[in-house]
Amino acid sequence: MSEISTEGADRVGAVAARTLLQRVKRIVPFFATARRGLLLALIGTVITAATEPLVPELLRQLLDRGFAQHRFPLWQVPLAVIGLFAIRSIAGFVAQYGLAWASNRAMLAMRRSMFGRLLDARPALFARNSASSLVNTITFEIQNGTQQLVNSVQTLTSDSLRLVALMAYLLWLNWQLTLFVAILFPPVALVMQVLSKRLHRLTVQGQRAVDDLAYVVEENVLAWRIVRLHAAEETEKSRFQRASEQLQRVSVKGVVSAAVMTPITQIVAATVLSAVIVAALWQSGHDQNSVGTFVAFVTTMLQLITPIKHLSEVSGPLTRGLAALDRGVSFIDESPVETGGSFAPSRTAGRIELRDVSLRYRDDQPPALDGVSMSLQAGETVALVGPSGAGKSTLVNLLPRFLDPTSGTVSLDGTPIREWDVYALRRQFALVSQDVVLFNDTVAANVALGNGGDPERVRDALAAANLLDFVEGLPKGVDSMIGHNGSQLSGGQRQRLAIARAIFKDAPILILDEATSALDNESERLVQQALERLMHGRTSLVIAHRLSTIEGADRIVTMDNGRVVEQGTHAQLLAQGGLYARLHSLQFRS
Ligand code: ADP
Repeated sequence: MSEISTEGADRVGAVAARTLLQRVKRIVPFFATARRGLLLALIGTVITAATEPLVPELLRQLLDRGFAQHRFPLWQVPLAVIGLFAIRSIAGFVAQYGLAWASNRAMLAMRRSMFGRLLDARPALFARNSASSLVNTITFEIQNGTQQLVNSVQTLTSDSLRLVALMAYLLWLNWQLTLFVAILFPPVALVMQVLSKRLHRLTVQGQRAVDDLAYVVEENVLAWRIVRLHAAEETEKSRFQRASEQLQRVSVKGVVSAAVMTPITQIVAATVLSAVIVAALWQSGHDQNSVGTFVAFVTTMLQLITPIKHLSEVSGPLTRGLAALDRGVSFIDESPVETGGSFAPSRTAGRIELRDVSLRYRDDQPPALDGVSMSLQAGETVALVGPSGAGKSTLVNLLPRFLDPTSGTVSLDGTPIREWDVYALRRQFALVSQDVVLFNDTVAANVALGNGGDPERVRDALAAANLLDFVEGLPKGVDSMIGHNGSQLSGGQRQRLAIARAIFKDAPILILDEATSALDNESERLVQQALERLMHGRTSLVIAHRLSTIEGADRIVTMDNGRVVEQGTHAQLLAQGGLYARLHSLQFRS
């Protein structure tokens, strides 16, 4: 169980360890489906950038030919001014549209891959990550990351192009002055690089802190009853306080780092500008620079400030966006897919054998299962009993391979389950457990769970589960929505819906995990009846705390500390006077 024992594996560390190029390479394929949008955006961007020097050039022409020499025909003025700005506006629109389209396409591709991985990742994924962190990664982080990344790439391309176009124009206008400007650039780049590294580190820490905070809130939302019953409010408040303070510290540091970049850039730019104006003025005293050329030069210099400023600010959102997407993409890369063999019969007889099975969740803990050997014949009902922590749930989780043993083998119909195709394997099991999971969909969809179709079979399953009368009383019958996690159903109804689901699935092996606990007598009678119909003709493995419910099982297996301690019928085990007899007399007395 190496996946589980590496719990808390430092995802931040893994993300930071990858180089920029590696991160970019991993993300680019998701944008491949959005090529058309990107091309459109590029065309728009190039046109906008290429027309940038036309603004100062127009000014130069107007000043030199229009005002000074009156050789600029008046009718050409509106044509040139309106025409220029119309082209630039249309190109700008095209660029924005193409980019929005492309980023949404890429987001779709990424989300689809991530959700796909959520469905086919090894179950250890859910042991390693909290629900809120998975939700956050797939929904919000991808959205924010893509937007930030796309906007910064847009800035990077369009402002670099603008810079190139304006610099070319400057060279053409006055190359000596332009070279003077170029010398002043490298120091700026150096300063920006140092600052952006620090920003990236803080961004990753910030995401971690948001996750931690969300985790505390999520726990308190889910477990509010326990928190109030145990008067744990103060403890929870201080946990929340710690998490918020950590987030606050990291956020402020991040903002300060980002904010420091702007003034530094601006001071540098102002220095460059003043030096250039002085030099230009000095130059114009020597040769006859026209007024138009001088004004065009200074205007272009001022125009240069915006792209330089944008480019200096781009590393923040760029690194933030990359880090967010990297986290999402590493979710895809670092969650191994479930593997299985190719053995895929359509239906097993239901003969299960565990041979010397051991399982350790963590190396520093005693094994949850310790050399367990047992078998279930086809059609047999076997009950698992034992104190809590004995390993019953762990054992049951091995069968559909929600967990894999550290050593030993589990076989189904004589074939080790590792050699089974995982989908074929899971088709053989139906599960009814204490906590019934319902989806926000219709009753029929909840019964059929993805294997939709035949409404007759759904009704038969509901009838066998003693639930059809209730469902037919609902406004839309089996097509009624049952609300978020079936909030409108009683405990017994939820339980019977789960039984109907198992009956509909018609799997040869049944796992019942505390299926009848926490029900009143009437509900329990209905549920018990439904269960008996369900268990008929199937191999059943039943975990029960209330021993009265499993007295009729073909065989009872008692577990303690991860080991099987005794097996036999109810009468045999009582006569034996061991652990089962002790548990039984404890319950009987109470
Ligand atoms: P039972 O179902 O009989 O109450 P479990 O199979 O749930 O027992 O637990 C067996 C042992 O394994 C317990 O000591 C429990 O603390 C441990 N355990 C169960 N699940 C995990 C897990 N996800 N990570 C670490 N330890 C676990």
